Amino acid sequence: MFLVALLPGPALCYNAVLAYIWFYRHRARDASCGPMSTAIAINPRHAAHDEPRHVEQASRLRAIIAALDSSGLRPSLVELPVRAATDAQLRAVHRERMVELVRWSANRASSWIDHDTYTTPATWDAATMAAGTAITVVDAVVGGSVRNAFALVRPPGHHATPGASMGFCLFNNIAVAARHALDGLGVGRVAIVDYDVHHGNGTQDIFFADDRVLFCSTHASPLYPGTGAEREIGTGPGHGTTLNLPLPHGVGDAGFARVFDELIVPAIRRYRPDLILVSAGYDGHWADPLGPLTLSVAGYTALTARLVALAEDVCNGRIALVLEGGYNLKALAACVMASLHVLCRREPGPDPFGPSGEPEPDVSALIARLQHGHPLLAV
Ligand SMILES: [Zn+2]
Repeated sequence: MFLVALLPGPALCYNAVLAYIWFYRHRARDASCGPMSTAIAINPRHAAHDEPRHVEQASRLRAIIAALDSSGLRPSLVELPVRAATDAQLRAVHRERMVELVRWSANRASSWIDHDTYTTPATWDAATMAAGTAITVVDAVVGGSVRNAFALVRPPGHHATPGASMGFCLFNNIAVAARHALDGLGVGRVAIVDYDVHHGNGTQDIFFADDRVLFCSTHASPLYPGTGAEREIGTGPGHGTTLNLPLPHGVGDAGFARVFDELIVPAIRRYRPDLILVSAGYDGHWADPLGPLTLSVAGYTALTARLVALAEDVCNGRIALVLEGGYNLKALAACVMASLHVLCRREPGPDPFGPSGEPEPDVSALIARLQHGHPLLAV
């Protein structure tokens, strides 16, 4: 009751308190991250896809791995061996012509697929392994050999559409994994939550007409790629299974908490997925060079804790994170490490960066519009 009195709004209170109680009850019961619990899978070929003058470079994953090694957490995690995605798995979400274009481009000298998406002679290996890494964690979580997992991958994936690589992304790793869960593992419904600062246009396009996937995206607006308006809610059988939350620049921890508690968590409860996947992009951190939102490490941690608690409630704890963006190396590594601690039910420790300290715009009007206008939320 003390917590309830501190937090504004009934929905916010309800979900925040549930997340708090769940997280700390389980932390108390299972303070150590034992074997067969939380897994990581690291794309073993990621560094072959590198362009040091580009923000999406191999040092991103190297920074995460260094933080993992120095944290003492790594021995507590199950490390999963990774295989490349097959052509059939890629073609389940991408057109054959697009897959062949990546294969052709990547077998030549270093070049560019569009003005911000580069390839190297080893990009095919790196990109197919990235998609395979996402598949690997989904196999482990759905198969029950681990409780939850984090796919540490690059190149990222959520901008890759059915027909085009774009926005640093070659193949849509999380979409390939979600389709594999649905068609290959017999999972009935998947919820994908995308908290990258950019809209996951590719994931949206792939599942826009598919009612087996609920796609929820928080993203800054206006910002690349310019999609993700509130009115984009799905089509045909998928009408109502896309939930877009375009956020004004400067929204941070408080606004995100409200959006999750009052929109995303209720929507997922109503949808009742069998598996939750997270497009875990950390370029919403206030120190990120690409993102105009002002989340802190602690803010991202709180969002991840909500999703882990929600997964426990609605799908037996089955949740897997797949890395997307994040371009301040220290902030990226800190956010990933904090999310891994949450998955392991360990205390993440203090936020090394602290809050942004900037005032936030109010998101009440956006929340009210979607609560009354979105098919999954309207009562
Ligand atoms: Zn991004």
